[in-house]
Formats: sequence, C-alpha cells, structure tokens
Amino acid sequence: MTTPADFESLLAPYAMRTQQSRGRRYREPDHPYRPAYVRDRDRIIHSAAFRRLAYKTQVFVDQPNDHHRTRLTHTLEVVQIARTVARQLSLNEDLTEAVALVHDLGHPPFGHAGEQTLHEMTASVGGFEHNRQGRRLVEKLESRYPHFPGLNLTCEVLDSISLHAEQSTRLSPSSPADRQMLAEAQVVDVVDSIAYAAHDIDDALRHQIITFADLRQIEIWRWAHDRCEKTYGNDLVGKQLSRGVIRSLIDGQVGSLIEESRQQLMNIRSVEEICSSPRRVISLPLPVATMKEELQKFLFARVYRSDVVTRRTKEGQQIVRGLFDRFLRSPDQLPEKYLRTDEGIERAVCDYISSMTDRFARRSYDENGAV
Ligand code: MG
Repeated sequence: MTTPADFESLLAPYAMRTQQSRGRRYREPDHPYRPAYVRDRDRIIHSAAFRRLAYKTQVFVDQPNDHHRTRLTHTLEVVQIARTVARQLSLNEDLTEAVALVHDLGHPPFGHAGEQTLHEMTASVGGFEHNRQGRRLVEKLESRYPHFPGLNLTCEVLDSISLHAEQSTRLSPSSPADRQMLAEAQVVDVVDSIAYAAHDIDDALRHQIITFADLRQIEIWRWAHDRCEKTYGNDLVGKQLSRGVIRSLIDGQVGSLIEESRQQLMNIRSVEEICSSPRRVISLPLPVATMKEELQKFLFARVYRSDVVTRRTKEGQQIVRGLFDRFLRSPDQLPEKYLRTDEGIERAVCDYISSMTDRFARRSYDENGAV
C-alpha cells in the first residue's frame, strides 16, 4: 500500500509534509492510505457549507442567466490553478487543494454586501469577517462526526483560513504573529486574486458593465491581448476574443508566478525558512504585480461599484438586515443547533444567516415577512 511518506518523497524541502503536521485538535488514528491533507480535502468537500457555495453570490447576485460565477465555481477555479502552481513548485498539492477548497467557506449570502451588513449588525459583539466565520464553520458549526464538533481539520489548514485574513491570528497563541503562511497557503492567496480578477472581467463583459474599449486602457489587458494574438492570430472578435485574452491573462500571470516563486525558493531549504522569512516567497514579479493592481482598481471602480452590482446588493443588504431583526426578536425561529452557542443571541443569529444561500435567505425573508 502507498503510504503518505511515499506520496511526499518527491516534494521540495520547503514543502509541508504530513509528518511535520501539528495534527488535529481531537486526536484520531491515521487513515491507512489517505494522508492527513487528503482527509481534510475530503471532509471539506463533504461538508454542507461547501455544497451551499453553489448558491452563494461571488459578485453578481441572482442574474437572469446561469453562466456567471458562484462561490463554488470560483473556488473550483482557484483549486485548479493552485494545484498547477503547487505541482510546478513541488509543493504539497494535497494541502494546497484543501486550503483552496476551504478558503471561501465562511462567506455569507449576497457577497460583500452580506458580509458588510452582518458586520454592522454584530458590531457590539465583535463584528463579522468571512475568514473568521470559515473557522467557526469548520471548528464548531459543521456537525458530521460523533466524536468532535466541526471537521477536525489539521492545524495547517485552520491556520491558512485565519492567515488569509490577518497574519496575526494563529491557532497557537505561542506562535509569533509575524510569521508567514506556508508556501501552499501563499499559493492559494495569490491564485485567488488571479482567478477572481479574470472571471470578474468575463462576467462583467457578459453583463455589458464594461467594454473592450474600457479594458484596452488597462496595461495588463494589453499585455494579455498581445499574448493572445501570438497564440491565436489577430482576427478573433467578440466572445472568442474575450475568452482568448482572459485565458492568456491567467496563463501569463500563472507562468510568471511560477518563475518568480521558483527564483525566490532557490535557496530555501525548509518549511521553517518559509515561515520565518521577512516576506512572502510566492509572488508575482513586480512589473506583473503592478499591472495586476491597476486591473484590481479598475474592477473596484467599474464593476464592484457599478449600478448593476450595487442595486442588487442593496436588496441583499435589506434581506440580511430584515432577517437579523426578525431572528433577534424571535429567537425561537432559529434552528436548535444555532441556539446551542454560549456566545449570545447576536452570534447565533449571525451564524444562521451567514450560513444561508442567497436563495434561501430571500425565501425566508419573503415567506415570513421580515420588517
Ligand atoms: Mg476567493
């Protein structure tokens, strides 16, 4: 039988190995043939929270066609790109996959608008942040196993969720706050933004929020356009053109990410060196990172704050606010499992609403006539 050590014998010295893992909060015997991070991956995929990602907004709420990205399809795009990068850098692909699968699990319905509203509603009890909620889900709220709450994931995957948001939040209080994420989690972090920028352009073009003329103002688009022409010639138009350029945009960034990171990793001999390094080792080369930043600013101004997106998100905010008020007044309407928390009714209501999909939240709101 192939053991985890066999699987991991070809990894780079700076890759995280299961043998080095700090383990799980609740001790469990090893599985005979599935390494620890493969089990993490499988537990995440089998969780209810993961299935709900199919019906949660990424950016575009309730669009009339079914082609725009949801949290689930975004997550799968991140997984697929992150695995490619991890494999090229001889990192632990299983761990990378688990980190990518879990990275957006804590998002509430209605995307950023839902998050902002829940944060406001819970301001007096510590607020709301999707990464923190992701940890609550996998540590407390998922209930699938008889011997422990949550999914009992490895410390490395739990850390990746917290560190995705803030470097200072760690599972172990003794860990220095200024340590870097594992290289596998750093890959997911960069790839997340490569993936969403690319697919948000695609969705925004489809919804006619932006045009090719707008995009030609952006340097990284022109860079990807040139790459696209080298591959497909210069007679692509319409959807073929946008798909070709977006493909080149992802491929160009991923290629440069791998090359740059390979350089950074050249003299690194251990996981410890990665974590104690003064800066991240997985990164885009500066010129590409600068171009990408310009694209992100453009997306913020022209897509995320566009009328089409904000009109729908206002509706989402109203639903979240209405549901919050209602459950706060009538906690008996909460499912029993959410009432088990000893952290107060606001947190219980927040846990319940944040777990909802867009359509379930809308249905609950419509059916019960929130204020
Ligand atoms: Mg993401």
